[in-house]
Amino acid sequence: MKLDLTSDALKTLAALPGLLLPWYRQNARSMPWRETPSPYYTWISEIMLQQTRVEAATGYFLRFIKALPTIADLAATPDEELMKLWEGLGYYSRARNLKKAAEILCREYGGELPADYRALLSLPGVGSYTAGAIASIAFELPYPAVDGNVLRVVSRVAECRANISEPAVKKEWEQAIASILPQQGVGDFNQSLMELGALVCQPNGAPRCLACPLVKVCKGFLNKTAEEFPVKAPKKERRIEVLSVFLLVADGKAALSQRGEQGLLAGLWELPNCPGKTAPDKIKGYFEKLGISAAVEPAGSAKHIFTHVEWRMEGYAVRLERPFDNPKLIWCTKNDLESRYPLPSAFKKYRKLLENML
Ligand code: SF4
Repeated sequence: MKLDLTSDALKTLAALPGLLLPWYRQNARSMPWRETPSPYYTWISEIMLQQTRVEAATGYFLRFIKALPTIADLAATPDEELMKLWEGLGYYSRARNLKKAAEILCREYGGELPADYRALLSLPGVGSYTAGAIASIAFELPYPAVDGNVLRVVSRVAECRANISEPAVKKEWEQAIASILPQQGVGDFNQSLMELGALVCQPNGAPRCLACPLVKVCKGFLNKTAEEFPVKAPKKERRIEVLSVFLLVADGKAALSQRGEQGLLAGLWELPNCPGKTAPDKIKGYFEKLGISAAVEPAGSAKHIFTHVEWRMEGYAVRLERPFDNPKLIWCTKNDLESRYPLPSAFKKYRKLLENML
C-alpha cells in the first residue's frame, strides 16, 4: 500500500461523511447544474469544470445547454458550432470528446447517460473522476469522485505523505474514499469534499481551518502540518515558444488559418503565425515578392500559458492592397469572425485589434 494510512487516520476519514454532509447542505454554492439536476447537466458541467473555475464555467454552461439542450442535439451539432460554443474555454479536445461520447450514447444508450459506472468510464473523455461524479451525483451510485481538491483535503486530514501525482496513489485514495461513502447522499458527499477543497481547504494560500467542519479531527490542523500537504511531483518547466502573429487585413476581410489535426489546439482556427520574431521589413518584402503592397505596424506583445508550453507572441498589423490566394488561408468578414470561426483565447488581444482593423 502506497498510502500507508494508520488505523487512526482511517478512523478520522470514516468521520468525514457525518461532518461534511450537514456542512455541504448549508454551504453549497448555488450553480445552474445543481439547481436543475440532470445526468446531462452533471456531465457537461463536470467536463467544463476540469480546467475552469466555477465562475468562468457558469456562463459557458448556460450558453451550451441553451444551444444543445439534449444529448441528441450535442451529437448532431456541426464541429464548427461546437467549437464556437467552447471558444475561450481551452482544452478543446474536451469538446470533441463530448461530441464523440454523445454519438455513442445516441447509438447505444437511446440518447441517455447510463446509470452504470463501467459504461460511463468507457466513454471518450470520461476518466474515473468524471464517471464517479456522474454515477454518484446523477444516479446516487456508490462511487467516489476524486480530483485534485479531494486529494488535497484527504492528504491533509490524514497527514498522508504519499505523492498524489502518482496514478497508483490516486487509485488507492479512490479505494479508501469508496470505503467511507455514506449509505445515503453519496453524490452530496462527493460534492462536499470538492466544495471544501475549493472554498475552505484551498490550494493557494493557507487553508481556512477555523471555518472548516473538519477542524476537530483533521490531523494536518491538529499537528500544524496542513501546509506540508499534499505531497506532489514538482511541476515541469514550461517550454517557451516565440511566435510572430500576423493580423492580415485586405478588402475588409481578415485572414485566418487552420491548425493541423494533431497537437496543441488541433484543428482550430488561428491567426497566421510563424516561429520566432520577424522584422517588419521582412514582412513587407514577402508581400512585395507576391506583387502586393503592404503597410506593416507592430501590434504589440502577448503571452499565453498552456499546461506545458508558453507562447510569447509578437504581433504585426498588416494592411494589404488586396487579398492573395493561399491554400492554408481563408478570408473572413467581421461577422464571420464573431459568429462562425472559433479562435482560441491565446489570440484574444490580437483578435480585438483585428476586429478594429475591419
Ligand atoms: S482543518 Fe484545515 S487543513 Fe484540515 S481539512 Fe479543514 S481546512 Fe483543510
